[in-house]
Amino acid sequence: ADSTNDGGILVIGLGRFGGYLAESLTHLGHEVLAVDRNPELVQRWSDQLDRVVQADATEEDALRQLGASDFQSAVVAIGASVEASVLAVLALVELGGPQVWARATSTKHAKILASVGAHHVIFPEAETGERVAHLIVSKMLDFIEFGADFAIAKVRTPQSLTGRSLAEVRPAERHGVRVVGVQLPGERFRYATDDTLVLPGSTLIVEGSIEEVQRFAALT
Ligand code: ATP
Ligand code: ATP
Repeated sequence: ADSTNDGGILVIGLGRFGGYLAESLTHLGHEVLAVDRNPELVQRWSDQLDRVVQADATEEDALRQLGASDFQSAVVAIGASVEASVLAVLALVELGGPQVWARATSTKHAKILASVGAHHVIFPEAETGERVAHLIVSKMLDFIEFGADFAIAKVRTPQSLTGRSLAEVRPAERHGVRVVGVQLPGERFRYATDDTLVLPGSTLIVEGSIEEVQRFAALT
């Protein structure tokens, strides 16, 4: 086993999703080993990523030779072939070691990945589709949901609230949301306090139930 893999992240499959993922992880300062069975892709990515190797990730021996069990996390980013994706996840789970993140391309694929032992299943097309639907029909600029009922959103400042401090606006009492961050035009986000002035053109970070956050965004 290769000790330089300790704490590193193994990315399997350099398609669009895996490629962006490996690139982002590298920019975030993480050690990435990217694997693809297609030698042309390995060649193409070798300039942008520190370590790219050609291997078939469905083969446990190949993964063992790469020192797969020493990685902190492994992401199976294969999409088109459900079989290859499932076999790669199974091989990683059986080797033991890394937290296995697996990309699903359908609901059934997601179920299979979970049942063969993937620790985290992601379904980017479904998640992004759902998210963009929310953004299109609401006035939120960005949002994250936690569970079925809690959300944090980025919203413009409702005009009716501008020119007053948060202590005067009382968003929790009036709107059921808490303003946690404020970005004045041209500045960075700061924590909101009671004294924070809600100036026109500011962007707010608010938290609360999904319904109340959306209703607050609709005031803008
Ligand atoms: P994306 O939507 O991210 O572009 P895709 O679904 O179009 O992906 P896939 O065919 O799923 O593309 O493959 C993603 C990458 O995974 C490809 O570059 C492919 O060569 C690689 N791949 C597929 N099977 C294996 C395997 N067994 N071992 C290693 N890499 C693999
Ligand atoms: P995804 O990654 O979301 O699964 P994809 O990239 O694999 O999408 P595409 O071939 O881009 O799939 O097509 C998405 C859908 O858009 C398909 O169902 C296709 O029939 C449809 N589509 C493609 N061209 C047109 C068109 N000119 N008019 C209407 N629909 C189209």
